[in-house]
Amino acid sequence: MADILQVARAQVLGQGTGLTQQQALSCLQLPDEQVDELLDLAHEVRRAWCGDEVEVEGIVSVKTGGCPEDCHFCSQSGVFDSPVRSAWLDVRSLVQAAKQTASTGATEFCIVAAVRGPDERLMAQVRQGVAAIKSEVDINIACSLGMLTQRQVDELAGIGVHRYNHNLETARSYFGAVVTTHTFEERWSTCEMVREAGMELCCGGILGMGETAEQRSEFAAQLAELAPDEVPLNFLNPRPGTPFSSLATMPALDALRATATFRLVMPHTVLRFAGGREITLGDLTERGLRGGVNALIVGNYLTTLGFPADQDLAMLRDLKMPIKALAKNL
Ligand code: SF4
Repeated sequence: MADILQVARAQVLGQGTGLTQQQALSCLQLPDEQVDELLDLAHEVRRAWCGDEVEVEGIVSVKTGGCPEDCHFCSQSGVFDSPVRSAWLDVRSLVQAAKQTASTGATEFCIVAAVRGPDERLMAQVRQGVAAIKSEVDINIACSLGMLTQRQVDELAGIGVHRYNHNLETARSYFGAVVTTHTFEERWSTCEMVREAGMELCCGGILGMGETAEQRSEFAAQLAELAPDEVPLNFLNPRPGTPFSSLATMPALDALRATATFRLVMPHTVLRFAGGREITLGDLTERGLRGGVNALIVGNYLTTLGFPADQDLAMLRDLKMPIKALAKNL
């Protein structure tokens, strides 16, 4: 194959056409000495096709732990012996968390629950929470509540949920090694329903779970096929008690290689650094932001601590990357 970086420059930067699975694999296999060049190209692509702004989001967990599913990376599964205990958050606390998130300049506030899919109790809580936040806080509301029925999709769209997060987690060919209690296709079908109902789709996954480079490129291509508005990239943070607790964290250079490659596969998508970036990248987070990423989750994650929001916001100021403002009355 011709030099993949030259090809990507013409195809992705020049025409806005994402890399194919095979081309993505070539990027993932670039030697260490070329990773800087790959990241620089991904940064140019992000600026050309997405602009300079960085989207900031906060998340809050309305229901933590005790999930019946067995996603092997997840400390919120009730199937494993992990130290996360089951807990619910009330509507007042949700509104407080939304206010705090808005005060950081974030435009998205995501309500997350550790469930296979929402039951009536959770839907009622979300209904009340969304209404209360909308009346008091100027912020877009996103939800992540697991697999949905068509009725639930329609209801969430109807109450004004702006974006729905549901991750594919990993490549179709590797999914069975990560989750056995539901299928890749079940996840895919919720994602399609969300998009068809007019909500923005946020769909990504976790890298560094033992998948091969081939499977990483397969995953990027499958995400591109689904065409989500946003792709959150997590890196495995091996949690005690989970089946993946003894996996090593992903080498930082591999994480950066993958980040830039995902940008080149999806030149127009919001690409967000989510969980695990602190342990995997540390100070190299900045390199990722100059390597294709244009969104961050600030503050704490669901079960682990992130960098404090102030530190992330200062980093964006240092990098001279403006935070995206809330679009009014779209
Ligand atoms: S469905 Fe979500 S909360 Fe439940 S185990 Fe899987 S990743 Fe964790």
